[in-house]
Amino acid sequence: MIPIAKPQIGDEEKQAVLEVLDSGMIAQGPRVKAFEEGFAAMCGVKHAVATSSGTTALHVALLAHGIGPGDEVITSAFTFIASANSVLFTGARPVFVDIDPATFNLDPAKIEAAITPQTKAIMPVHLFGLTCDMAPILDVAAKHGLLVIEDACQAHGAEYQGQRSGSFGTGTFSLYPTKNITSAEGGMITSNDPVIDEKCRVIRQHGMRRRYYHDELGFNFRMTDVHAAIGLAQLQKLERFNAARIANAAYLSSHLQGVITPVTPAGQRHVFHQYTIRVEGGRRDALAQHLSANGIGNMVYYPVPIHQQTFYVNELGYGEVRLPETERAAAEVLSLPVHPALSQTDLETIVAAVNSFTGV
Ligand SMILES: *Cc1c(COP(=O)(O)O)cnc(C)c1O
Repeated sequence: MIPIAKPQIGDEEKQAVLEVLDSGMIAQGPRVKAFEEGFAAMCGVKHAVATSSGTTALHVALLAHGIGPGDEVITSAFTFIASANSVLFTGARPVFVDIDPATFNLDPAKIEAAITPQTKAIMPVHLFGLTCDMAPILDVAAKHGLLVIEDACQAHGAEYQGQRSGSFGTGTFSLYPTKNITSAEGGMITSNDPVIDEKCRVIRQHGMRRRYYHDELGFNFRMTDVHAAIGLAQLQKLERFNAARIANAAYLSSHLQGVITPVTPAGQRHVFHQYTIRVEGGRRDALAQHLSANGIGNMVYYPVPIHQQTFYVNELGYGEVRLPETERAAAEVLSLPVHPALSQTDLETIVAAVNSFTGV
């Protein structure tokens, strides 16, 4: 079986965890601080705040920007549920804009029509490792005075016109085991704004600036030093991991036949969190079955767009929302293994299995 994802945990991670356990300081401590500094440097920003997950990073980032009841946040419905749920956690409402079918990311040309007097922020989701088309998104945000909070949970080290994801506004990252680097569970908030950085730190820890004095409502969304030790070791490997993903994707794209392979627009560095093809003609599920039968891991990210999820339809009134490109993508996409542990034989096996199905 060639798995769809495979966390790369080596001796460095194991040794780092043992050192933390032996240090006697296992909750949030010096490793978290070092991981935050290293992560900020990786993104080319001044500040990073570590949290317990990507979901809590999104939640805290939105709260730090004052987003709450009565506000609207424009985002994509073709993403993991946490992108939109984090908006709901604050009491605000996600407003979904359709995607560009070529990139699976928010279509910047469709954002302006979705802006209302309640709109507070745009949340571009850099899906599958490709940064959104940020220049027009930043233009429309500036024109309407909107915040930009990036869901970069799948885009560690991705670049747009030489600039890293997570550095365009306030960035949020996940460190879940399937992501390009992991801390087992974990998240990161990146920014260049010292006020936002400080607010995130306070919300992460019970709204507390001075011990046992609570200025506002906060949470326990801290990362532990055990997790940060894993994350720090992984951070040293991110460039190597991303280079392997990019090379694996290039091999697949030059050999796969009869399917639509992912695009990397000019001026972008796609880091292939997922390698996602489009299978037209209603044959996606049959190809998925064929690959599974041949021992090739595969997954549909995502089979149900958020506006069509039961909770969003039944409880939140999104039943009338229509997003044709999002809905078509959900019916046609299939992700293939692209992770750094793939061998040349694995890549050849994947290509042979896909091409035998498409009959080219
Ligand atoms: C993984 C992911 C999240 C949530 O991250 P967790 O660490 O799993 O909480 C949010 N948004 C996107 C796009 C993701 O892929």
